[in-house]
Amino acid sequence: MKLITNLDHSKEEFDKRLRYKTEPVEKVTSKFQDVALELLKAMYSLNAIGLAANQVGLKIQLCVLDPAFLFGKKIPIVMFNPQIVEHGEELYGSPEGCLSLPEFGLTVPRFRKVVVKYLGIGGKEHTIKDDNSLLASVLQHELDHLNGVLMVDRLPERQEVTYKDHIIIEGD
Ligand SMILES: [Zn+2]
Repeated sequence: MKLITNLDHSKEEFDKRLRYKTEPVEKVTSKFQDVALELLKAMYSLNAIGLAANQVGLKIQLCVLDPAFLFGKKIPIVMFNPQIVEHGEELYGSPEGCLSLPEFGLTVPRFRKVVVKYLGIGGKEHTIKDDNSLLASVLQHELDHLNGVLMVDRLPERQEVTYKDHIIIEGD
């Protein structure tokens, strides 16, 4: 899997694969399970806590995440066809980085509280809720990717871009 990155500072010229609106899977087949495991492997090897399929050029609604990895644990989550089904109204400024936009460190407005429905790696429907922790912002960051939305699109107005001097953590 090759990570698509965009080092061009022009917002208009992002790699078009990062702008793909990915497509839902009909059924979680063993082929898709293998892809998910590969995506997880890629995420961990990149020292990241989230990765979406279109970041490696795959046009499927699949993302993997593991906020616990930031704290030295491994609690992987595989999501097919994830959708935000509920969210609170309150926004906060989430400090984020993105593997695909390695030069950016941004504070992105995100909902504090989200509820996401998805199919797990076993193909069963799950619901995950998060209120006020890192998971909520990682979920929104990765789901945005699957809709071709990048964190720079979420900035309320032109924000001073900070350059990263720390480890790049997807969706952090
Ligand atoms: Zn990202």
